[in-house]
Amino acid sequence: MPDQPSNVRPAQDRPVNDCPAPDHAAQDNPAPDHAAPDHRRLGRELDLFDTDPLMGSGLPYWLPDGAAIRHSLEEFIRGRERRAGYRHVYSPVLGKRELYEISGHWAHYREDMFPPMELGSEEMVLRPSLCPHHALIYRSRPHSYRELPLRMAELGGMYRSELSGVLGGLTRVRAIQLNDAHVFCTPEQAADEAVAALELIREVHRVLGVVPVRYRLSLPGAGGKYVADPALWERAVALLTEVLERSGVPFEAAEGEAAFYGPKIDVQIADGAGREFTLSTVQIDFHQPERFNLHYIGADGARHRPVMVHRSVIGSVERVVAHLIELYGGAFPAWLAPVQVVLLPVSDAEVPQAERFRQRCLDLGLRAEVAGPEHGSLGARVREARLVPYQAVIGAREAVDDRVALRLRDGRRLEPLPAEEAWARIGALVAACEAELWAEAAGR
Ligand SMILES: [Zn+2]
Repeated sequence: MPDQPSNVRPAQDRPVNDCPAPDHAAQDNPAPDHAAPDHRRLGRELDLFDTDPLMGSGLPYWLPDGAAIRHSLEEFIRGRERRAGYRHVYSPVLGKRELYEISGHWAHYREDMFPPMELGSEEMVLRPSLCPHHALIYRSRPHSYRELPLRMAELGGMYRSELSGVLGGLTRVRAIQLNDAHVFCTPEQAADEAVAALELIREVHRVLGVVPVRYRLSLPGAGGKYVADPALWERAVALLTEVLERSGVPFEAAEGEAAFYGPKIDVQIADGAGREFTLSTVQIDFHQPERFNLHYIGADGARHRPVMVHRSVIGSVERVVAHLIELYGGAFPAWLAPVQVVLLPVSDAEVPQAERFRQRCLDLGLRAEVAGPEHGSLGARVREARLVPYQAVIGAREAVDDRVALRLRDGRRLEPLPAEEAWARIGALVAACEAELWAEAAGR
């Protein structure tokens, strides 16, 4: 546990949110030193995101290049979830106060929630997590054991009332876009589902190039605001321990880091300055199914209580993008890059061909731009485009024979090849979320 400034509450006084969200302990650390890559500086330099005092601190907006990264990341994660058997829902970002009284957030998590808004005789609350909504969606239809495990996913908004003095960048925010899911299953299925969730997390980390520093079994601590039911806590801890052992990952237990309703597996990542935070989590929850009186009809025709497995693969979109910005220093893998192909006409005469190529790339779903002679010398434009994975210089010859000579961001120069082949191969590499800029295996 890194040192914390004395003016912040200790971690056990601030139960980490059920469904993951940024980690308080990491947020409470001092600002990073200037030698380390800092997503706030890079975010400004690369025009990825910004804030405005009139929107409010801790409420960043995403500029087009940042939005392009976020869109690719969101589509990637949804695709992986679909392949893993999840189905996606949308649910509103607020709910009535009673909903959070039932879930337990009002009793155990209120200090991190925005105050209620009065609407006629009702009190509406910006949601502190997605779980209560998903529990209601589950409860809205009858379920047979044959439908289980039912895997419900959403990339949805949630809110946290942070003090303005501690907000900054994408890592301390008041509005959070969470990659979240809840698996409703039988008690016998819970461990398998949690193992599968952990495997999905590890697969996604591999694609993103994210390397965890450790796996943490997060347990309740003394004096924390945890729901009381020792038998259910013990059962959940035993299941999560089994999950970690079956997954074969080394882990350490940490007291005081559990969600208020149950223990969790936290996958810990370190930022550029070496500070640790939670990116991904897996939780087994017996509490909320009780609170929401969830059930399914078993093979015996009787009602049974399902278990909820909460899991987040990439945590909050804000947090993971901040990490990716620092990890890659702005030179993102091609599938995430804001601009994937830049077309560089040598002179005005080649601009029409560059524009045709650009349109062809756009038609193929690639993000492409033309940097024409009005932006300076060719050398200056190549330098300006140094973070773009694929640079295509269009000279007089390329303009007539529909071939392109690609330069890769890593300095390699490829032999001229037919433009259609170049775009198709780039498209295949991007679709495969390939880390290599020009892998021979892809696109052929
Ligand atoms: Zn949840």
